[in-house]
Amino acid sequence: MPLLEPGSPTDLIATTTAAFTERFGRPPRLVGRAPGRVNLIGEHTDYNRGLVLPVALPHATWVAVAPRADRQLRLSSAQQDALWTGTLDDLEPAAITGWAAYAAGVLWALREEGLEIPGLDLHVHSTVPLGAGLSSSAALECAVGVALVGLLGRSLEDTHDGVPLRDVLVRAGIRAETEVAGAPTGGMDQTVAVHARAGSALLIDFDDGARRHLDLDLEGRVLLVTDTRVSHELTDGGYAARRADCEAAASALGLDSLRRASLEDVEGLTDERVRRRARHIVTEIARVQRTVDALAQRAWSEVARCFLDSHTSMRDDFEISTDELDTAVSVAVEAGALAARMTGGGFGGSTVAIVPEERLSAVVRAIDAAFTQRSYAAPSHLVVQPGAGASVEAVDALGG
Ligand code: ADP
Ligand code: MG
Repeated sequence: MPLLEPGSPTDLIATTTAAFTERFGRPPRLVGRAPGRVNLIGEHTDYNRGLVLPVALPHATWVAVAPRADRQLRLSSAQQDALWTGTLDDLEPAAITGWAAYAAGVLWALREEGLEIPGLDLHVHSTVPLGAGLSSSAALECAVGVALVGLLGRSLEDTHDGVPLRDVLVRAGIRAETEVAGAPTGGMDQTVAVHARAGSALLIDFDDGARRHLDLDLEGRVLLVTDTRVSHELTDGGYAARRADCEAAASALGLDSLRRASLEDVEGLTDERVRRRARHIVTEIARVQRTVDALAQRAWSEVARCFLDSHTSMRDDFEISTDELDTAVSVAVEAGALAARMTGGGFGGSTVAIVPEERLSAVVRAIDAAFTQRSYAAPSHLVVQPGAGASVEAVDALGG
């Protein structure tokens, strides 16, 4: 059964280091790492001050970096052809284009936070699929951020102006994504990329910023992520339109966010589309809490119900699903998955399923067969053990 493997950290550090050395003619100083994520439940709730429950992937983005004596910046990626070059003076949102928005954008945002950014060379390598709803964007942002922290000789446990550096990295990643790349996402991805712990899901409450690590014991079941290979574009307007509808709903109710709205409130909204969007948010926030409780009680049929209702709500009320996602979800459940739903921002991307270990290959085969039968592109599958958050992986130990 071909699965998209995360790769071994030792090999990935070696690969990223070798590519850096090849490209820039000298070894890097260190390598930063940050993971992609799969969200178990709680979609589009982060920017509505709601709850989310993501898990960090073992798949991650690796960033090798070395400082320069001059003010030049050179950024390359194994996943993109274009090299981005500029100087420290070019670190301005309007001057940064293409994929570099997520990398040079973080350097800009960290400088805005008061960190000293030197001239540098930087090379990226990732095992997170791009544009698959698994947050390759925040993995890149946060890997650049931790690489910078390492380069400045700081520890992730340090503070900066009284703020934990981890939180500075989260904020810088969000600013790069929203203000430089122009994707108005809500902060879940960067938070889990920086704060995740291996073996745990991370419950984040975007009302007060509270985080709780939840032991994820699925009792003999595994997390199966299926990338439908329908690539989404979070900067193309659909995501922003959903966000605008949510804001319109809150404002029509005289609230500062939908977190304060009840189901009764939203059923009274007069605009039919805005009503459906708001209903998704209010019911989805409740489903995150129900899922957390059900996981704690090992109430598996309740977990299954929450996933199914979440998918239906995203398909019908929020309208962010696709035929490929709907197919992967229904076929997974027919083939023996306990629960399945689309995950991530939508308009393509991935599904997440909880699958009894002994049904795993049957579920994968059934999804593959259904996709072939419908002439969809072949999906790829990831089996996910919850991974750890961002780290500085190697400092001056690279033989450089
Ligand atoms: P997702 O975060 O779900 O993967 P996004 O649309 O938010 O999808 O982000 C994908 C974009 O992030 C890519 O199109 C590219 O610009 C950038 N990106 C992510 N990973 C890399 C990488 N390893 N190298 C270069 N650019 C990357
Ligand atoms: Mg993203």
